Amino acid sequence: MVQSKFVEFVTDVFDYFERKRPNDNTMDLWFDEVRNIPDEPLEWIKGKIFKENDNKPSNLPATMWALYNAWLQANPHKRAFTEEKDCPDCESGWLILEKDQDPYRTPISATAPCGRCRQLRMPKYLRLEDAMLAGFRRKNLTTEYAVRRRPVRELAASIGRNVPQVNTVAQED
Ligand SMILES: [Zn+2]
Repeated sequence: MVQSKFVEFVTDVFDYFERKRPNDNTMDLWFDEVRNIPDEPLEWIKGKIFKENDNKPSNLPATMWALYNAWLQANPHKRAFTEEKDCPDCESGWLILEKDQDPYRTPISATAPCGRCRQLRMPKYLRLEDAMLAGFRRKNLTTEYAVRRRPVRELAASIGRNVPQVNTVAQED
């Protein structure tokens, strides 16, 4: 969440229980604890705090995390959206597919939003098994074309140097 949302949240909670808002330092420390909670469940979390407490929670960040986890349980599709980052079928939400097809000498390629993790917000999805039934195979970018991630220092050191020559190998029959 962004800090302004958090300040608004805390202000509402403390107003509700007729308490004075904590000082800025406390607010900063608390915000560090809960910044990874997204904006979306905040209203729900606030409603729960209002309904289920006679007094303001003594450890607000801990209460927020507990309620956020409860919210994820109540909204499993949201969990899927954020946590299926390591989907085994796709590349960041895209099925990367290819298929041998006459009369072409190289396979035709296709992409589709992955129906397993649905991490892309799209109107339609395709599941890898359905694509395979249609004769496609997966082109695994991670194992076939992995780019070595270079540390920032190495990248910085390479600025201004000549780019290494890449020789293109022409395919022959
Ligand atoms: Zn996927």
